[in-house]
Amino acid sequence: MTRTPITAHGNITVSNPDKVLYPAGKFTKAQVVEYYARVAPFLLPHFKNRPVTLKRFPDGVFGEAFYEKDAPGFTPEWVKRFPVPRHEGGPDIHYILINDIRTLAWVANMAALELHPFLHRVPRIERPTHVVFDLDPGEGVNILQCAEIAFLLREVLRKLHLQSLVKVSGSKGLQVYVPLNTATTYEATQPFSRAIAELLENGNPKLVVSDMSKNLRVGRVLIDWSQNADYKTTVGVYSLRAKRERPYVSMPVRWEELRKAMAKSDAARLEFQPEEALRRLDRMGDLFVPLLKLKQQLPHEFAKLGRTRGRRTAQLAEYEAKRDFRKTSEPAAGLPRRSAQGSRRRFVVQKHAASHLHYDFRLEMHDVLKSWAVPRGLPLKEGETHTGFQTEDHTVEYLEFEGIIPQGEYGGGTVMVWDIGTYEVVDGNYWKGALRVYLTGKKLKGEWMLNRLESEDKKTRWLLQRK
Ligand code: MN
Repeated sequence: MTRTPITAHGNITVSNPDKVLYPAGKFTKAQVVEYYARVAPFLLPHFKNRPVTLKRFPDGVFGEAFYEKDAPGFTPEWVKRFPVPRHEGGPDIHYILINDIRTLAWVANMAALELHPFLHRVPRIERPTHVVFDLDPGEGVNILQCAEIAFLLREVLRKLHLQSLVKVSGSKGLQVYVPLNTATTYEATQPFSRAIAELLENGNPKLVVSDMSKNLRVGRVLIDWSQNADYKTTVGVYSLRAKRERPYVSMPVRWEELRKAMAKSDAARLEFQPEEALRRLDRMGDLFVPLLKLKQQLPHEFAKLGRTRGRRTAQLAEYEAKRDFRKTSEPAAGLPRRSAQGSRRRFVVQKHAASHLHYDFRLEMHDVLKSWAVPRGLPLKEGETHTGFQTEDHTVEYLEFEGIIPQGEYGGGTVMVWDIGTYEVVDGNYWKGALRVYLTGKKLKGEWMLNRLESEDKKTRWLLQRK
C-alpha cells in the first residue's frame, strides 16, 4: 500500500490515499484530505474550540458509516480534546477540537467526511454563539422551495432587528444562521427558534411544517429548530457531505444567489463541489465572517430566559469549582434539565459517609438545590432541634445522586439517598432566613422550621426544628 506523506498538512500521512470514497469521478481519500487542507484557512476559524461529532465513512459514501463523538483510543496526544458530561451519565465524552490544520488533516484521513460542530465553544458549553434553522425539504419539494422559506424566515428575523446568513447544507436543504456572539444560553435560543418556526408554520401552513414528529413533510419544508439544543450538532461550514455519489460542500451563499436560483428554477446553482468551492473562496472570501463577528441579541423576552439561566450558572460556580468532574461521578452543573414542577418542589436527604458521617438536606429552589449538612440528620421528635450547616447550592441533578466520591476528592465517601420526596413552603422564606416547610417523603412527613443564625464564622448555621 502506498503512503504519501503530505508535509504541508503537519506531517499527516495519508493512509490508503487512492481509496475511492465518492464513486462518481473517483474522488479519493487523498483528494478529501487535500480539500480539507486547502479549505482550512476558511474553515478553522469557524471550528475553533467547538466540540465536533465526526461522521466517518471508512468504506466510502455508500459503505457503512458511523458517528464518532468520543475521541477514539488511538487519538494522538497532540489532538486537543474537551471532556463533556453525558446527559445519560457515565464517563465524559472527550470531544475532539479541530483547532489546527494538522487535526483537520488527521480527521480527514480517518475518512471523517462530514464534520458536525456544536453551536458553542468550550469551555462555555451552555452558550451557543448563534441560532440555526435547518430547512429540510419534504417529499416533492427541493432546495428552491427551501429558498422561498429562507426568505420568509429572513424577513421575520429582520423585523426583530436580526441579520441572518444562509448556506446550502450540501445535502438537500439550506441552513439559516443568526449570529449572536453575546451572552445567551440554549434556554433562550431554543424557545426562540421554536417560536419563529411555529410563527412561520402558522402563517404558511401549506408550505411550512415545524414539527419533526408529524408526518406532514410531504410537499412542505421542515423548519427544524430543534438543532438549537446543547447536545445537537449541525453540519459545519465548508464540511463535505457524504449523501451522494459526488462530494458537495456545505457552502455559504449570498441571498442574491438564492434569489437568482429561484428566478431561474435552477437548483444546480446551489451545488458546490470541492474545486468550485475553493475557487469561490478565492474569489469572494468567507461569506460567513459575520457569523464570527456580528454581535446580536435575541428579543427581550427570550434574552430574559437566557439570563435566568446565567444566574443559575453563577449560583453553581462554587459547586463546580469544588469538584473535578473527571474524578467524581457527581453530576456537573453544565447541563441542567428543568424539572416539571408546580407549587410542589422536591427535597432529598442524602446520607453522606464522608470523613464525618452526616446527612445532607436539600430543597429544590429556583433551579438549584439549597443545601445543609446536618450532622445528626433532621430531628424526628416533636420540638427537637438539630443544627445544620449551609453548604454550596447543588445542581438539581444531585437529587437522585448516589455513589462513591473518590477519597481525596471534595466530600470523598459514599452518598446514599436516605429519603426523597416533595415539599411545600408553609410560611416564611429562605432569603429571610426563616421558613416553615411541609415535607412529604417516604420517611419524613410533617412540618419542620428552618431558622438561620447570625454566625461569626463563614459557616452559616441554621436551626432545624421538628414542629
Ligand atoms: Mn455532604
